[in-house]
Amino acid sequence: MPIKNLTTNVRPQFPSLGTLRKGEARTEEDIKRNRPGADLPGTFRFTSDDPKIAEAFAAAYGTRPASLAVFLPNKRVADNWEAWQEEWVAGSLKHRCDGETCVLWQKPDGGYSTDPAPCPGKCKPVGRLQALIPELLQAGYVGYVTFVTTSKHDIRALQACLEDAEAKGNGHGLQGIEFRLYRVQQAISMWDDNLKKRVRRKKWLVKLTPSVRWVQAQIASAERQALGEPEPLKALPEPDAEEGIILDDEPDAEDWDEEEANAEETAEETTEAEAEVAAAAAETPADPAPSRADPYAHRELLREAAKDLARRYPTYKPSKPQQSLVRLLIAKAAGTEGKEADDDRHAFLRFVWGKESSAELDYGETKATINALIDRERSDSEAKVYEVNADAPDLVIAVLNECARLAARGEAAR
Ligand SMILES: [Zn+2]
Repeated sequence: MPIKNLTTNVRPQFPSLGTLRKGEARTEEDIKRNRPGADLPGTFRFTSDDPKIAEAFAAAYGTRPASLAVFLPNKRVADNWEAWQEEWVAGSLKHRCDGETCVLWQKPDGGYSTDPAPCPGKCKPVGRLQALIPELLQAGYVGYVTFVTTSKHDIRALQACLEDAEAKGNGHGLQGIEFRLYRVQQAISMWDDNLKKRVRRKKWLVKLTPSVRWVQAQIASAERQALGEPEPLKALPEPDAEEGIILDDEPDAEDWDEEEANAEETAEETTEAEAEVAAAAAETPADPAPSRADPYAHRELLREAAKDLARRYPTYKPSKPQQSLVRLLIAKAAGTEGKEADDDRHAFLRFVWGKESSAELDYGETKATINALIDRERSDSEAKVYEVNADAPDLVIAVLNECARLAARGEAAR
């Protein structure tokens, strides 16, 4: 996101949990020579102001992971990732530019200006990626982690990967895609000052790629479309978005001086409602349910989706809002109210999950039900309005008709 939006665009603000780097902490010598800390061969280093968050990270990944599974909080590349040229002197940002024009620069009085100004030079590239780390969210820490790199090669690679994934994201953009952030050793061509020529050297670069599972799902989806087969319900990677998982656009905190950090805090305001709306928007809509009114096919897809979710988030528990959302959506899809709605819901849950009430469903079952029924475009968590999608009534009514048929014949749901 361009820096000017820090002051012009009021967005939900969630805390930065920490920073992910590819180098050691800077030594006195590094600081004196204005260079990053020594590169960690093949691994990342996570730092946080909160030792408990650092502990939670270490519990999931150890202290020097070589690879992490991450999700991105926003749909568009520019809202997740920014790359600038920056000039730092003694821990203070002097200017940030796009290589030609400054978007932020320090005035002689120490304050900052966002008026466009020509780049004065001496700046170096910095890329920052905001990422969600499921294990930290699971541990109860809601917020994002910033990965920082000053390598031009990393910046080019991440930019290309993100643009590609956004283009393939089926209109959902980058949200909901599981990425792997990892380090890889590659030969790169670079100028050697001593040899006075270009040489190839091995360097540890950073790569970001969609997970194999996500790519396979894209291929399978394309194949199904080509064959005219129905799409299965898609599992949501967002762990608990109904409750709000959002991020802000705060740049790498460690590199900011205090004045700028304070300026940022006053520039942005957040309300819980905004966070909820963004959380709802962060959800990937479920793919359309199968068109045929076969309750057993619907059930099969729901169970598959639930199993997949349970596999991916084995420790997650459904939240109270999610449980009530299940009740609300089933009633809406069935078009019933009161006692009738209760009876319909019990019948639906018994048939699909073999359980009597929404409170008995596990995380995967809860989430799979919500994903199959909700219309995320038309739902608005701020207004507490939740709509079902166009296929939801068919799904629920097919199931309820089958329940009625079985009941009439004195049979229990299989
Ligand atoms: Zn510059």
